[in-house]
Amino acid sequence: MNCKEVLERIYKEIASKENKGAIATYIPELAKVNPDNFGVCFLSVNNEEHGVGDWQTKFSIQSISKVLALSFAYKTFGDEIWERVGVEPSGTPFNSLVQLESDNGIPRNPFMNSGAMVISDMLVSHLENPKEDFLNYVREICGSDQIQYSEAVAKSEASVGYRNKALCNFIKSFGNIENDPNEVLDFYFHKCAIEMSCQELSKTFLFLANHDFRTTKGKKVLSTSKSKRINAIMQTCGFYDESGEFSFKVGLPGKSGVGGGIVAVYPGKYCITVWSPKLNEKGNSYRGMQFLETFTTETELSIF
Ligand code: GLN
Repeated sequence: MNCKEVLERIYKEIASKENKGAIATYIPELAKVNPDNFGVCFLSVNNEEHGVGDWQTKFSIQSISKVLALSFAYKTFGDEIWERVGVEPSGTPFNSLVQLESDNGIPRNPFMNSGAMVISDMLVSHLENPKEDFLNYVREICGSDQIQYSEAVAKSEASVGYRNKALCNFIKSFGNIENDPNEVLDFYFHKCAIEMSCQELSKTFLFLANHDFRTTKGKKVLSTSKSKRINAIMQTCGFYDESGEFSFKVGLPGKSGVGGGIVAVYPGKYCITVWSPKLNEKGNSYRGMQFLETFTTETELSIF
C-alpha cells in the first residue's frame, strides 16, 4: 500500500464534499479561525511521515491537551489519581455537570472537563510554576521549543467560561479541588489554549504508539503499563458521548478538541492527526471523523 497516495486521495475526496457542522463559537477567539482549514499528518513508528493540506499550521489543541496533562499527573502521582477521578465513559457531553452531584464530585473520567479540572488541580498543587512547567513537559515530548500558549484564546475562554467556573467550584464544594478555583481554572484555560500543528501533535503522541512507548527521541514518558492505560481511556472516553461511535467507525484510541483537531494512535504502528475546525453536534471535528473512518476502513489499519 502506498500510504501517501491513500492519504492524498481521501483528503481530496473529503475536501470536495460539503463541510458540515459549525465552529466552536462559544469561545469567541476560536470563531476567528478559517472553517476551511484542513490538514492531516501521518507518522509511523518507523518515522515515515506524510502531511497533506494545512498540516503545518498551528491551531488550538483544546481538549487534546487533557491527554498530556493526564500523562504528567499519572507519572507524578501514580495510581493515587484514581481516588479522585474515574475511568468510565460518561455518555454525557464534555462540559456536563449532571453526574457530579450523585457521584459526590468524583468525575467519571479525566477527559471530560470536570475530570481535567481535577487533574489540573493535582498539577497546580505539585508544580512550582504550573503553566511554565507543563509547557516545558509538552515541548520535551514533542522535541520542539516552538510550542506556546495562545494568551488570546486563554483570555477569551476565561471571559465566557461560566460553565467551567461552575464545574470547578462545584467540585470544590465536594472537597475534590484543593486549590483556589481561580488558579485551577487559569491553568486549565491555558492548557486548552496550547497551539500546535498536525505535524507537532503526531510527533508528540507518537510515544503512545511507539515500540516500548518512547518519544521520537527515545525517551520513556510513562511506564508501559501506564501508557497502555492512557490508550485504553482514549479508546473508551476520548470523544465524550461519541466515544462508542468513534470506536465503531474508526477503531483507534484517540482524542478530540473543540479546535477541530483529532489525534488517533495505533499502538505499535502509527499516529495520525487530522484538523478541520467545523464540529459535529457532539463537539468533534466533522471532517476529522469522516477522514479517519475512511482511512482505517480502506487501509484496514484499525486495532480491531
Ligand atoms: N476549553 C474547552 C472547554 O473547556 C475544551 C473543550 C473541548 O475541547 N472539548 O470548554
